[in-house]
Amino acid sequence: MAGQNLIEQAESKQPQLMQHFIHLVATKRLSHAYLFSGLPGCGKRAVAQVVAMGLFCQNPNEDGMPCGQCPECGRILAGDNPDVVTVQPDGQRIKVDQVRYIKDEFAKSPVEGSIKVFIIEGAETLTTNAANGLLKFIEEPVANRVIFLLTTNKSMMLATILSRTQIVEFPSLTGKAFAETLRENHISENQIPLLSGLTNSLDDAQQLVVDDWLANCQHELSRWFGQLAKRDDMAFVTVQTGLMPLAHDKDHQAVILDAIILLWQDTLQTKYLSSDAQTVFPALQTTLTEIASSLSRNQLLTILTAALATKKALAGNMNIQSILETLTLQILAAMTQTA
Ligand SMILES: [Zn+2]
Repeated sequence: MAGQNLIEQAESKQPQLMQHFIHLVATKRLSHAYLFSGLPGCGKRAVAQVVAMGLFCQNPNEDGMPCGQCPECGRILAGDNPDVVTVQPDGQRIKVDQVRYIKDEFAKSPVEGSIKVFIIEGAETLTTNAANGLLKFIEEPVANRVIFLLTTNKSMMLATILSRTQIVEFPSLTGKAFAETLRENHISENQIPLLSGLTNSLDDAQQLVVDDWLANCQHELSRWFGQLAKRDDMAFVTVQTGLMPLAHDKDHQAVILDAIILLWQDTLQTKYLSSDAQTVFPALQTTLTEIASSLSRNQLLTILTAALATKKALAGNMNIQSILETLTLQILAAMTQTA
């Protein structure tokens, strides 16, 4: 990735944090150990790398933002600067030899510049021993060393690490930045609105597209919704033939219910906002508009209330097939009642 892309990415994902850290770099007030905590894909690595670039850049702008183009910026991007040490888990964990490498590097003075930067991703995968080994470096600040521990799961970090680092909570991405992240990760364009409605986590989004699960879910929900639009009782059968095969575990069951809720929220929105408002089911726009205009406000609210109640039923361990069948009957009843 070119330097400027990385800077743009960090700024679009985390504008406030980026500004904050560049200011710390420019005023030389960077602390010695940070824990960046946040969902996968929320920009932790990008921010840490841009900070590193800011420390080495030959041509920063007046705010201290790195240029992204000079040889120093280029070397950091290429992983080619010996004073910027980056470690990612090798498989499930950060391995023992990786920890040894970090410690060795920590003990060495900067090779070229005046500071050494450590970026350790997946810090929650450090074993207790390894984390304790690093603690020594974290608790006794060494001049000219700054360490960024990156984690998606702060609750798995040792309390001793948490208490000795400055914890920086990365907020979830806003709609536009998350959509952009999904695009960067090759998620298909017609799945982005629904995924953005379902989650803020890149990991969760990637899980949902495995084996075309999400595409199948969109397909079956569209069929179910289309049948409901025609007040067709076949919608009840579609629960069993179309939706149940996709509802193989609690997580996927919850996603189906969330998608249904989004679908009816979209319908309500189509009725009251504008018909070209961004919906999570763009392919269903025509059907949405039809249903929205054929139902009264009360009918729509009855349906939405029933849809929202399904989440509670699932949490109460009610069987998913009963939940979906009951909902389908409630919707059919609400749609055929006189408004
Ligand atoms: Zn530069």
